Amino acid sequence: MAAPGKKDYYEILGVSREASADDIKKAYRTLTRKYHPDANPGDKEAEAKYKEINEANEVLSDPKKRAQYDQFGYVGDMPPEGFGGFGGFGGQGQTFTQEDIGDLFGNLFGGGFGGRRRSANPNAPRRGADLEATVRLTLEEAYRGVTRKLEIPRLDTCRRCGGSGAEPGSSVNVCPTCHGSGQIFQVVNTPFGQMQQSGTCPTCRGKGKTVDKVCTECRGKGRVRRTATVDVKIPAGADNGMRLRVSSKGEAGVNGGPSGDLFILTEVMPDARFTRRDDDLNTTVEITFPQAALGCEVKVETFDGIEKLDIPAGTQAGSKLRIRGRGMPRLKTKGNGDMNILVKIKVPRTLTQKERKLLKELAKESGVETAG
Ligand SMILES: [Zn+2]
Ligand SMILES: [Zn+2]
Repeated sequence: MAAPGKKDYYEILGVSREASADDIKKAYRTLTRKYHPDANPGDKEAEAKYKEINEANEVLSDPKKRAQYDQFGYVGDMPPEGFGGFGGFGGQGQTFTQEDIGDLFGNLFGGGFGGRRRSANPNAPRRGADLEATVRLTLEEAYRGVTRKLEIPRLDTCRRCGGSGAEPGSSVNVCPTCHGSGQIFQVVNTPFGQMQQSGTCPTCRGKGKTVDKVCTECRGKGRVRRTATVDVKIPAGADNGMRLRVSSKGEAGVNGGPSGDLFILTEVMPDARFTRRDDDLNTTVEITFPQAALGCEVKVETFDGIEKLDIPAGTQAGSKLRIRGRGMPRLKTKGNGDMNILVKIKVPRTLTQKERKLLKELAKESGVETAG
């Protein structure tokens, strides 16, 4: 977006302002091939274009020159015609455009000044904000993986104007007050002397553009608040407190900038049957003393159904057994963790007469004293 009378080197090379050095090199090669005098003998227009392309490349292919160009809109000591020309430094509240100040302070402030200003340039494409949402899952959902439809309120690109802020059919012009920079500069008197302040251009409110008629849908903002339905895929094995990124599902960018990302925080709720430890699941089985002493087969619930587990004879209370591969799916590698089983021995609270008799016999046989 060059000011009147200024050449836009980016436009000449047909690349965006964010183009990489490679993009510029590529564009330059393609264009010089096309407009080379050898390929267009006697064609004055092609010759002029060829010169222009070389001039643009000379600036944009040199990081230093490119930075200066981005900052002030020209390269070298002298601004192109049509710049400068404000009278005096003293007028309080006097308004200068970015180009004027660039002319005045360019050598004084060097690159650092421009770096800040460039990032504050409201014309520059800006990435949309990242958003965050929490998804609550049961442990079983975390085990299997799940796709959730989330209602995300966010700023989306206005569909009516495609983000330009202009009513369809109306024209967009470079702001006459700030020449497209979106900012104005003022010199103000302070107790410390005169200082220059930058501010948002009041004519275009920083957009650098004015439109004949603002979009009726977004009132010129280019974005509208809308609730979007986003399918979020939670991978099998998701853990509590994970932060998943859903690329480009955040808020829409500004001035053609990319969308932000949507971050999903996972909250996995406790399960009545299993507790989780990393990729393993822990559970408990209760068996009786005869089962522990003689061995038995028990049924263990897993997320993939009932598993049979052999309890060997002589198993102690508090023993830990394991079924391999019946834990949570591993997120980073293949396979699953294990199911760890803690063995508890259940002691009956009431006994039948026969049970009491048999237990007393057992105690006597074992040579231990019992009450009653
Ligand atoms: Zn709109
Ligand atoms: Zn303006």
